[in-house]
Amino acid sequence: MKIAQLGEFGFISRLRRQCPPGPGVRLGIGDDCAALEIPPGELLLTTTDLLLEQVHFRREWTDWHRLGRKSVAVNVSDIAAMGGTPRYLFLALALPADLEVTALDAFIDGFLAAAADYGASLAGGDTCRSPGPLLISVTAEGSVPAGELVGRSGARPGDAIYVSGTLGDSALALRQLLAGEAPEAFLAERHHNPSARTGLGRALAAARLATAMVDLSDGLVADLGHLLTASGVGGRVATASLPLSPAFRAALAAEPALLELALAGGEDYELLFTVPPERAAELPPLAAQLGLALTRVGELTSGPGLVLVDAQRQERTPGRGGFDHFAG
Ligand code: ADP
Ligand code: MG
Repeated sequence: MKIAQLGEFGFISRLRRQCPPGPGVRLGIGDDCAALEIPPGELLLTTTDLLLEQVHFRREWTDWHRLGRKSVAVNVSDIAAMGGTPRYLFLALALPADLEVTALDAFIDGFLAAAADYGASLAGGDTCRSPGPLLISVTAEGSVPAGELVGRSGARPGDAIYVSGTLGDSALALRQLLAGEAPEAFLAERHHNPSARTGLGRALAAARLATAMVDLSDGLVADLGHLLTASGVGGRVATASLPLSPAFRAALAAEPALLELALAGGEDYELLFTVPPERAAELPPLAAQLGLALTRVGELTSGPGLVLVDAQRQERTPGRGGFDHFAG
């Protein structure tokens, strides 16, 4: 069956049956607005991301379930980067009329499974027909205690720069897909099914350990660059200290230029954060507790700008880096 046969209202009433109101949802799908609670004394966090067919994903490379999961994770990652707890999700869809209902069902399945993993409820959205590509717009809302909000602007010279997890895996998978190769399972999973680091973001905020934080969606050079600009500081990153997965290291050994993907590839969805040097000892226990690598990759300077230092102590200033939708 095609979505055109199910219809907008058929789709919404099915969706409504799949989403009994979650925690804090006074009114969810089915009224003109959602009516939602946030804990007293907390700030509301709101973020939106678009996923557009041919720009962010290709139908032939992705399975619908993982696309549903990813569309949640990339939004929740922004909530994590502020130190917040994700709570509510909104899903706006522009659907080509010939889309198979089985594909949409698998997408919604993945979306709701990821929402449950992060403790968030689907509370509303909008659905219309697309005359062209499939468009998915997700809005995530969360909250953070007012005194624990972590922005991009609080970093100070001397703070150490940390990143979670490993860098470059998703970009390497994408490069292999674009070259017509099949990435190995680990890399493919990092690209199609990234995890948002909500536990880490919340823990850093609650301990008031991070002076500034950003999630790595556009690549380390670009996202760290935003943090440096917002904080009015500079930074030095030792490229030999970047955390790399065994799969990435294997590819890098054959092609050293791939290091660029760990620096500027994007879609890592790890957290980059800065910590005052006197509190560095708190990070190894936190990493052990979360089961997530937290790696010191450099430090902040009085600046300006970012300097990359390689294993031979050669310094270079990177280009702006990051993906710009309107560039070239
Ligand atoms: P309105 O015309 O008042 O905006 P709609 O008919 O667009 O209402 O939507 C009816 C209800 O279904 C609303 O509560 C809306 O939030 C929800 N809804 C519509 N599309 C989606 C979707 N793709 N995901 C989640 N909820 C949706
Ligand atoms: Mg509407």
